[in-house]
Amino acid sequence: MRLSRYFLPVLKETPSEAEIISHQLMLRAGLIKQQSAGIYSWLPLGFRVLKKIEQIVHEEQVRAGHIPVLMPTIQSAELWRESGRYDAYGPEMLRIRDRRDRDMLYGPTNEEMITDIFRAHVGSYRDLPLTLFHQQWKFRDEIRPRFGVMRGREFLMKDGYSFDIDKEGAIHAYNRHMVSYLRTFERMGLKAVPMRADTGPIGGDLSHEFLILAETGESEVFCDSAVLELSLGDREIDWDDRDALQGLVDRWTTPYARADETHDPALFESEVPEERRASARGIEVGHIFYFGTKYSEPMGATVATADGGRATVEMGSYGIGVSRLVGAIIEASHDANGVIWPESVAPFPVGIVNLKQGDEATDGACEALYAQLEAAGVEALYHDRDERAGAKFATMDLIGLPWRITVGPRGLKNGVVELTERRSGASEELSAEAAAAKLIARFGA
Ligand code: ATP
Ligand code: MG
Repeated sequence: MRLSRYFLPVLKETPSEAEIISHQLMLRAGLIKQQSAGIYSWLPLGFRVLKKIEQIVHEEQVRAGHIPVLMPTIQSAELWRESGRYDAYGPEMLRIRDRRDRDMLYGPTNEEMITDIFRAHVGSYRDLPLTLFHQQWKFRDEIRPRFGVMRGREFLMKDGYSFDIDKEGAIHAYNRHMVSYLRTFERMGLKAVPMRADTGPIGGDLSHEFLILAETGESEVFCDSAVLELSLGDREIDWDDRDALQGLVDRWTTPYARADETHDPALFESEVPEERRASARGIEVGHIFYFGTKYSEPMGATVATADGGRATVEMGSYGIGVSRLVGAIIEASHDANGVIWPESVAPFPVGIVNLKQGDEATDGACEALYAQLEAAGVEALYHDRDERAGAKFATMDLIGLPWRITVGPRGLKNGVVELTERRSGASEELSAEAAAAKLIARFGA
């Protein structure tokens, strides 16, 4: 993409309404524009990041055997009356009336709708287990929308729902989600820790929130620092192996890790040696929940069993804050000059800076490099506007592309360009050919 033909409305000043760094950088780097409190447009660069995150989430869900669907944003109040949540949900629910005076709502979540789909089409234990998920916009009329996309009113969520014949099956589904989430967040360069969460009136201990540690997090978290050392990496997972998955889940959930709501100071002190007691702030990026028959029971979602009877299905639900992640990743990865995108979610892997726009040799070298990268499937953002070198560098640092190739007349005389890594700031001089080869090996299609 040539910057001269792109739409990248960067801001010089830090907008005063933004309290935290990710929100400031998202506005300054031209990723989003606020339309109303907690409601944002995604501008081209931000939209690219959002799509990359969505894609990673999708791939990891499919890898775990879960099936994508798409449910609507607008729902009928009828379903919510069946579960009893229409009245219980409160003012966070945006209630709408259509022209025939029917009560509708903008979905804050989809347990009722997915249960309705299930009961309409699944009748037998042979169709289980089943996990369906979608990535769809939600609306919650948050009392205090703030921090940009981190606590929006309209936000993109991945929400998945599992159906099993019995509790053991449901726990296996829960474990699949926990492990798939570990991989999902690791792929985004995040250290997300599953922390024991409240299950509310349902009881049991099968609810975990995934939190990433960041100073600006809304929750206070306490954990055994040993849990921060764990990493799933790219090990093979057999998603049908119940014991193996349980083993992994135990590894991650045995060390103490809780957010303020469930934190137990006495237990923390007795379980965790002092030198490993970590307390910090955290951002919730995911939440998994086993809730049994909470919705299937009142809504009549049953299946025929092998012995000729009927069973009410066991369910769980599993969320990831897809749009919140854009802000959360920036909170975890930035410096004084701007965003530092992890390669997996960067809007472009590489930027090309032309130090002397209009100079024939420099323009020619940039064009050749740009064409070569594009042909190999490496998306480059070519800064081809007529601006000072300093301004170009500032823009590139602000938008945080992982790699920058700088091309100028002086280097070209010696047959070299400069390749700079955004994260470390480390630069090397090499031929344009060698720079292209390196990036193609890393990012080429
Ligand atoms: P929170 O405690 O942050 O209000 P929640 O527990 O109400 O979140 P869930 O219903 O568990 O949220 O939703 C699943 C995920 O969706 C959360 O883990 C979070 O990442 C994301 N999410 C929830 N509310 C918002 C919001 N207002 N803006 C952006 N993302 C959100
Ligand atoms: Mg939650």
